[in-house]
Amino acid sequence: MTLLDQQTAPAGTAAAGPRSTPHTAALVAAAEARTAHNYHPLPVVVAEAAGAWMTDVDGRRYLDMLAGYSALNFGHAHPTLVAAAQAQLDRLTLTSRAFVHDRFAEFTARLADLCGKDLVLPMNTGAEAVETAIKVARKWGYEVKGVPDDRAEIIVMSGNFHGRTTTIVSFSDDPDAHDGFGPFTPGFTLVPYGDLAAVEAALTPRTVAVLVEPIQGEAGVIIPPAGYLRGLRDLCTRESVLLACDEIQSGLGRTGRTFASDHEGVVPDLYVLGKALGGGIVPVSAVVADRDVLGVLRPGQHGSTFGGNPLACAVGVGVLDLLEPGDLQARAAELGVLLRDRLSALVGHGISGFRSRGLWAGVDVDPALGTGREVCEALMARGVLAKDTHGSTIRLAPPLVVSADDLAWGLDQLAAVVAG
Ligand SMILES: *Cc1c(COP(=O)(O)O)cnc(C)c1O
Repeated sequence: MTLLDQQTAPAGTAAAGPRSTPHTAALVAAAEARTAHNYHPLPVVVAEAAGAWMTDVDGRRYLDMLAGYSALNFGHAHPTLVAAAQAQLDRLTLTSRAFVHDRFAEFTARLADLCGKDLVLPMNTGAEAVETAIKVARKWGYEVKGVPDDRAEIIVMSGNFHGRTTTIVSFSDDPDAHDGFGPFTPGFTLVPYGDLAAVEAALTPRTVAVLVEPIQGEAGVIIPPAGYLRGLRDLCTRESVLLACDEIQSGLGRTGRTFASDHEGVVPDLYVLGKALGGGIVPVSAVVADRDVLGVLRPGQHGSTFGGNPLACAVGVGVLDLLEPGDLQARAAELGVLLRDRLSALVGHGISGFRSRGLWAGVDVDPALGTGREVCEALMARGVLAKDTHGSTIRLAPPLVVSADDLAWGLDQLAAVVAG
């Protein structure tokens, strides 16, 4: 018997009912027919959503336990963000950076303040922000640290996920992400994640930066040993190396703090932000750093047509309105206790282990139950949408606005799937 055979929607819940209708199947087939198969989505066709709930084309409702890989930390259609976007749509959407627009200063200054830094460089996607951090670190290395031209090295971590550009996949150790896309960009040294001594051993006089995810989301919500980030901070300070924290997935409230680095009181030299910065409405990313670092860029040396556009800034200001009071971070911490306690009770009952911080968990399903994909299909049949990451690991990252009752219900569905 497969996981799917066991599933029946519990009475009195919002669960999905039958797994696939002809309507859904036809739309899935149509979507596949004319697109590159660089994704393998669950066979659900979403038509609308609000808060933590999505509705498919057949009117079935699903609890969103992925939240767009944390791009939807504030939930679907958050009223503050929708109002900000709608008001801006009627006024001004794009100027390019050839001209200054009237939403730019507020967004960038408030984002810099949230990070406790001097300057912001806005881009669009996460990968672009990572590329920006790499370029800035290299230029800083040549102009400030005195590294010989074209010899800069950046230390990166095993299991990393920083995006999909050719330079970024050059230093991925995931064969799917990397293989077949060479020739690769040189200048990166890969060391085991969580191993401070390995970073120290890899440092050379040409090292300009250490690029790290404070928690590795894509790898399965991998949390490094306590003291690791603090150790990286001290090492980088001592050796005149920039610490670049990719907080694209871990940041903006997900872990119960504004940034995952905050858990160790660490302030990186470069914050790399994305995903939730655009409120799930538009792509907004940024590198945030002090003047002595970002100041190495001069006109013409870097840019993006859409980076920092008025619509992005308006939504970004809405995101800052939601983050500045700190309530959502506190909520993620509180709900995180519920998440952790419920998952703890499942260890040995269908899950072999899990890692969590705030409202974010990587759950290792007992491989005997099936693949992560099969578990996600079974969850889908019960009205919960989540996504497997590597092998039998499922990432849980519901919107931070999810109610405690809905979260508990979603975890009931997980328990029913894995523990029967
Ligand atoms: C998603 C992600 C990226 C890439 O962001 P895109 O917007 O998909 O380019 C980079 N780093 C981390 C940690 C991510 O989770």
